[in-house]
Amino acid sequence: MSITKSLFDTYNGEEIYSYTMTNKNGSSVTVLDFGGTINRLFVPDRNGKLADIICGFDRVEDYVTDASNYSGAIVGRYANRMSNGGFTIDGKRYDVENNDGGVCHLHGGVKGFSRRKWQGEGICGNGSDSVTMRLFSPDGEDGYPGNLNVCVTYTFDDNNTLTIHYEAVTDKDTVLNMTSHGYYNLSGYDGGCILDKELYVNADKYDVPNSHNIPEDEPHSVEGTKFDFREMKKIEVACDHNFVLNSDRGDAPAAELYDESTGRVIKLYTDYPALQIYTAEFMNGKTNFKGDIPQRPFHAICLETQYSPDTPNRPYMPSCVLKAGEKYDKTARFVFSVR
Ligand code: BGC
Repeated sequence: MSITKSLFDTYNGEEIYSYTMTNKNGSSVTVLDFGGTINRLFVPDRNGKLADIICGFDRVEDYVTDASNYSGAIVGRYANRMSNGGFTIDGKRYDVENNDGGVCHLHGGVKGFSRRKWQGEGICGNGSDSVTMRLFSPDGEDGYPGNLNVCVTYTFDDNNTLTIHYEAVTDKDTVLNMTSHGYYNLSGYDGGCILDKELYVNADKYDVPNSHNIPEDEPHSVEGTKFDFREMKKIEVACDHNFVLNSDRGDAPAAELYDESTGRVIKLYTDYPALQIYTAEFMNGKTNFKGDIPQRPFHAICLETQYSPDTPNRPYMPSCVLKAGEKYDKTARFVFSVR
């Protein structure tokens, strides 16, 4: 394994660095200290040919122009949507901004975690390397309570496994839901529409969104719907839905994505209770991806491990409250292989 740090760009007078972890197979992951963003991810196909399977940009300015897509970034404090312009903890009301069309809160609000500099550090290990990204979010930022210290660690190993470990501590009870908003295309990020890829999701239930993309009530059964991915099948439908992961799945993955044309596979494991599958129908920005590849809807898929949308206002969902002094500790593991 090796790890290199390079100057990626400068933005607003700040130097933005990239950290690239390369394993013995030549596979690599590049993470930016802007947004804690995954910028490149090279893994082999069934013939050993490497391709970059993550959508990203060549310049920080492009990430900023394209901010509403959260390309590759860490999202927080609350990833996904929240209704009612806020939430209540122990009887105290906290207001957050309805930055999604004025009707709900999305991906942590106006400031959020995704478009700012983090403090990066590369750590060499034995058979794996890590990049740690740290961020301080002060009490009241974006309306959320608590001084919050966040640490997200990316670890890449010789088995082509990328582990994202989310940690945080707060000095006041707060809500927290961090995810990684990577747009994957197993044929390569310039590889065309992903609706023909095959998907498995270990979930009997999913949220049915209302017209504002907020779950309308308690999770519904996937049975008999086009969102039943309990047997691997071609995606085929536009999906921007939250799946409640089966808690009794044992060692089975939470989800699996397979590309027949290249043989590439992602197996995803997590201790988060839910997974948003987003087939990127709004990926239509004017900013071109790396190497001047145009954006097109449905040309990538996001596998966002998280708490379910609007959990702070849905007492029947697993709680996303982080108590003062306790540690937020969640993991998503992306295992890349071929068939
Ligand atoms: C959401 C989409 C949203 C996209 C970009 C996804 O996580 O589910 O509704 O358009 O992020 O903001």
